[in-house]
Amino acid sequence: MEGDPLSSTLRSARHAPLGLPTPLASGRGSGTSRTRRARQRASFQVTRVLRFCYGHRLLHYPGKCRHLHGHNARVEIELSSKKLNRLGMAVDFEKIKQKIQAWLDAELDHTMILHEKDPWVKILRAQNEPCLALKTNPTAENLAKLIYDYARGRGLPVTEVRLWETPHSRASYRRNE
Ligand SMILES: [Zn+2]
Repeated sequence: MEGDPLSSTLRSARHAPLGLPTPLASGRGSGTSRTRRARQRASFQVTRVLRFCYGHRLLHYPGKCRHLHGHNARVEIELSSKKLNRLGMAVDFEKIKQKIQAWLDAELDHTMILHEKDPWVKILRAQNEPCLALKTNPTAENLAKLIYDYARGRGLPVTEVRLWETPHSRASYRRNE
């Protein structure tokens, strides 16, 4: 097989230095600058899953979600980094949990999350029941954004937050930068 021209072509292509254009890839345009652009776009992603339970209802919604009800939310917090640290990590999974889970537990877990104009806000507060009033309807989309904004505010390089309201329904928020 040593002299097999096909296998030696494949071998040389596979062993071409990483990041440099192979003879087959060179041609019109600059393969090197294409590679550099691709490398600038490339990044590592890590995702930490966190969970919390919450109650809510949607104002002005015609379906049954207009009634008070609850969900077991699964939150996926995706972070990106162009580089790895000296341990080979984009972001430490534990750091994500430490920065976000305590806030989720204190602010959202076992809390009724409502629109600020919902009459239940006053009633629940009068009863000392945990209630968070938002300027928006407490949909999975708005909760994903709420968590995204909090994580960003804590300095985490979040690229997307996905919130599973049920095992079948997921909303996500990402800011295109
Ligand atoms: Zn719901």
